[in-house]
Amino acid sequence: MHTLIKKRKKVINKMFELTEKPDNWEVYLSLEGKNEFALLKPVCSECQKYWSVNRKECFLCKTKYYRIKICKECSSIYPENVTWCINCDKKDGKKKGTKTVKICINCGAEETGRSKIFVPITFCWYCGNRENEFTWKIKSF
Ligand SMILES: [Zn+2]
Ligand SMILES: [Zn+2]
Ligand SMILES: [Zn+2]
Repeated sequence: MHTLIKKRKKVINKMFELTEKPDNWEVYLSLEGKNEFALLKPVCSECQKYWSVNRKECFLCKTKYYRIKICKECSSIYPENVTWCINCDKKDGKKKGTKTVKICINCGAEETGRSKIFVPITFCWYCGNRENEFTWKIKSF
């Protein structure tokens, strides 16, 4: 192994170890030639809890997106990763059944194809505050 990669491997493992923590820190940058790197995360300016950039809300009614999908034919609820309704597949006998759609549990808005209903959250998941900020720390290897 190339010595640089060898050296880097330790660094990469260390970064991984630190960022794997449920604390949600993200590696922002490692300073070239130094044994330091910065960890950064967005937090709520009010309660200081993690402001997840992966979480989404309904654009129309501002309700949290619960990562569920629904089959419009039989109203079965599925997790986000399920694309086709299992019940409708069976009934029909066809290979492709009914496609599940992302739905807002509050207003019932559906996200289909081009129309994006769910957008990154604009409020704190925990306290409802609408402002976030960044917190950071410097770590060394
Ligand atoms: Zn169905
Ligand atoms: Zn909604
Ligand atoms: Zn908050």
